[in-house]
Amino acid sequence: MSEETVFDQILSGGISADIVYEDEHCVAFRDINPQAPVHILIIPRRKITGLQAVEPADTGLLGQLMAAACAVAGQEGIRESGFRCVINAGAQGGQEVPYLHVHLLGGRQLGWPPG
Ligand code: 5GP
Repeated sequence: MSEETVFDQILSGGISADIVYEDEHCVAFRDINPQAPVHILIIPRRKITGLQAVEPADTGLLGQLMAAACAVAGQEGIRESGFRCVINAGAQGGQEVPYLHVHLLGGRQLGWPPG
């Protein structure tokens, strides 16, 4: 069984978070250490440890995550101005929390390439 993460605890209510969106498949909350005026994390209710662990049966859930990110961008007023979705996968990808999550970033001009 995979280790319990802070995101498991946010889902179970053990740790509080500023939840901005919920649906049947996904939950979104503000990042505790925002890197942009809008920095929200979208996670699936069904745990997957990361993009590197995705299987063919998970493709629908990945679509739900991206659709949720776009809905949250609309809620936050950045759907038209532009935003970025990032998934860090594994150690060299910069993933710190082993629970699949999409970073939604926006509200300022974002640079490229990322670090
Ligand atoms: P990763 O590096 O795994 O892609 O991103 C993990 C993100 O989770 C980081 O941006 C970090 O600031 C955020 N984070 C870590 N712990 C907490 C927490 O307890 N609450 C919230 N809201 N965000 C967290």
